[in-house]
Amino acid sequence: MIGTIEELRGLINDAAMRRPHLTGRLEKAAFLVLLRPIERLGTDIWRVGSEDGLRFYTVKEGECECSDYLRHGSGHPCKHRIALFLHRSLENGARGPAVQKQRDRAQRDNQETITE
Ligand SMILES: [Zn+2]
Repeated sequence: MIGTIEELRGLINDAAMRRPHLTGRLEKAAFLVLLRPIERLGTDIWRVGSEDGLRFYTVKEGECECSDYLRHGSGHPCKHRIALFLHRSLENGARGPAVQKQRDRAQRDNQETITE
């Protein structure tokens, strides 16, 4: 596992705030990140475990092969692409603005407690 649960939660909260209609799919994607294998097969080719754990979907150059993606067309944020986005964000250190903000707030709260 890369990154922390806190970072994953931060990423999801941030993305769900910006795109509320994706909240359900973001949570499914988080499930994939936590419980299914996500492996790099080559340059911008990834394999993401399916939700039922019985197969894999290949995401090549941002294009997924799942039926949801094929039905909606190019650029559709299916849960595999979202899972890959979350995975790669965590891999890159994840410290997105939302996570950092939460951390700053926590630190500030701590300082205020100390000085009181
Ligand atoms: Zn997909």
